[in-house]
Amino acid sequence: MLTLERATVRFRGGTALDGVDLAVAEHEVVCVLGPSGGGKSTLLRTVAGLQPLDSGRVVLDGRDLAGVPAHRRGVGLMFQDHQLFPQRDVGGNVAFGLRMQGVSRGERDGRVGELLDLVGLPGAAGRAVATLSGGEQQRVALARALAPRPRLLMLDEPLGQLDRSLRERLVVELRELFGRLGTTVLAVTHDQGEAFALADRVVVMREGRIAQSGTPLEVWQRPADAFVARFLGFDNVVDATVSGEAADTPWGKVPVPEGSPQGPRGLLVRPAGVRLVPVSEGLRCTVTARTFRGTHVAVRLQPEQAPALEAACPLRSAPEPGDKTGVVFDAAEVVVLGDGSAA
Ligand code: ADP
Ligand code: MG
Repeated sequence: MLTLERATVRFRGGTALDGVDLAVAEHEVVCVLGPSGGGKSTLLRTVAGLQPLDSGRVVLDGRDLAGVPAHRRGVGLMFQDHQLFPQRDVGGNVAFGLRMQGVSRGERDGRVGELLDLVGLPGAAGRAVATLSGGEQQRVALARALAPRPRLLMLDEPLGQLDRSLRERLVVELRELFGRLGTTVLAVTHDQGEAFALADRVVVMREGRIAQSGTPLEVWQRPADAFVARFLGFDNVVDATVSGEAADTPWGKVPVPEGSPQGPRGLLVRPAGVRLVPVSEGLRCTVTARTFRGTHVAVRLQPEQAPALEAACPLRSAPEPGDKTGVVFDAAEVVVLGDGSAA
């Protein structure tokens, strides 16, 4: 439904979008994930018609959008700061886009009521914006963006300002809501938890370019390169040389899955693949820290002459800082990365 073809935007400071190719299918929820400054907001602004392209095209429903003004594009954009109009009540905020479209008063009131029901704020139309909690404001901003029934709903850091527990709850509600409405969504966020929970497909972006695109499972299981792996929070990433089903690494020989790419490569060992064994049996390490993570303990290990490692241990059997342990690696949790180095 939406296609970006070699979309490029340059600012004086550099290139915000660098030849981006991206397609969003009807009813699909795509989430662009990347660090701050990577070009995510610029991407949405080009689709919305708020930022001209230096080269490339944006095509919606087969139509090149060059020269189509923002209000004629049929896309909705919920901005990063999602500010509500403070002088209008909740209903006035939600009805804003409908009023712009010239929808009659009676129809507007009906739609506002439906939308507030939908976002879990029934009967809130008369409330003043100042009386809303952060999560309620977020819901109103969402209802406002949905009200004109955009062909494509774009969300910029939709839950960025909320605290963790509220964010985790709302993201599940949003996903359910989009599924129910069949909304086509292009969202951007720097928060991987949000992206993975919301999206049918995750697109990882770095410095104006797409580093990887895939289902949440694909990206999580097989990060394309060292940047993506580190951005997902994996620390056990090193340079390696793969030969057959083993790799030479700073941690010694590490077994790799059958069919792994060969030669000099970045290599990721998921924490679950770092197994603790008696000191005499594997790579000798000292435990330097441990962090309780709810379902497991993240154990930080320092080998004598190699980069630190993180292991995921069951709650009961986690060693303590200062303990010595041996380490062996489980090939099933090793990923040979697509690029040439771990840098
Ligand atoms: P993100 O949303 O991923 O944080 P942005 O799209 O906001 O990234 O910004 C990408 C890059 O483009 C940044 O380096 C930013 O400073 C720059 N940039 C964004 N908007 C403008 C602008 N209007 N003028 C100049 N530079 C800009
Ligand atoms: Mg941004």
